[in-house]
Order: sequence, then structure tokens, then C-alpha cells
Amino acid sequence: MYTASFAALPVLADIAIGRKPGGRWPALKLAGRIVVEEQQLHEPGYVQARYPAAINELHQLTQNVVMARPFEGDVDDFLYWLEHLLAFEGVPVWRHSLRREEHAVVCPSCALSLEIDLSSKPPGTRRRDPNARFRVAGREGPILTEVRPAAPADLPPLASRLHGVAIRAGQPAVAEHLTHLFGCATCPACASDFPVPDQVAASQA
Ligand SMILES: [Zn+2]
Repeated sequence: MYTASFAALPVLADIAIGRKPGGRWPALKLAGRIVVEEQQLHEPGYVQARYPAAINELHQLTQNVVMARPFEGDVDDFLYWLEHLLAFEGVPVWRHSLRREEHAVVCPSCALSLEIDLSSKPPGTRRRDPNARFRVAGREGPILTEVRPAAPADLPPLASRLHGVAIRAGQPAVAEHLTHLFGCATCPACASDFPVPDQVAASQA
């Protein structure tokens, strides 16, 4: 399904940039989502190697979207566009892990199953039933330890760049979320601290 979708990328780029008739925004959004899903089937970089001209244009247009002031949309919309930006750059993991959601991880020290919930206020960590096949809304346990945000100056290069984009776009809530996503969690059982991004990345390996 997605392989066929990839073939549509040059046409979507034509529409998004205005060379062909059609809805420019929907075309740009759809192209972004297709490339976000790319890693389900291919190595990162596959689409970039195959459709370099289209990807370059789509990347530039997406950059324009996240640099526009005011941005048309809410925090999650902005995070979607940032994911698209990374997808067009061929960045693994974060192309589909930037949003305010729950991450199923394990404690790197004691191997307990945990859930880091970045949608809760404040963001924090709870225990997770490793055998539960579905997460039942409202049945998850309480947040036991809070995620400690990273200082903006301490963010790794990728996160620092996204943080800067969010600040310049007048999106402080996005910027704050990124300090949690790239912050530090504490295991409720063994009390060891670990970097959130390491376990999010490990959970997708
Ligand atoms: Zn632990």
C-alpha cells in the first residue's frame, strides 16, 4: 500500500508547490504522512534516494509551514508538521514519536514495564502491565514519578533545533513538550533515573 503511495510523491509535490491543480495543503500533509510511515517498510533514506527532487521540495514547503507566523493549528498539529519535517530528512524514530502521547518502555536498570505518559499534566511515569494487549483508557495507574524536563541548553542537537523552531514560531507549549520528551524519567520501582529519549528509541528498535 505504501509502496504505491510513494509513487504519488512527485505528483503530490507538484500539487503542493502549485504546478498542478489541487489542494496544496492536503497534498503536502498527505505526502508528509506517507513518508512518516516509510520506515514500516524500508530503511530510512529509501524515499530520499528514490525521489530526491520531490522530497527536497516537500521538505522546503514543510519548513515554510513551521516557520510561518502565526501558525495555523494547535500544538499537536505543529508536532505533526515537525514529524513530517524529520521524515523528509530521513530521521528515524522521531519522525513518528514527537507527539504528546504514551510510550511503553522498560526500566533500563530493573527491567520493569513502564509507561511514560507525555500527555498527562504533569508528564510522568507509571507502571504498565506487560501482558495487557490493549491500553484501556481510564484504567491506567497513577503517575508515580514526574518526568524532569531537560534544560533547553542541554538538549541534544536534533531536539535543540526543533526547540528553536518552536520558539521562533511562537509555540512555547511545543517547546516545553520537547524538553519533557528529551528529559529524564525516574523508575517508580528502583528509583533509577534514565533519559526518556533513550528508552523511547529502544522501544522501537
Ligand atoms: Zn527500575
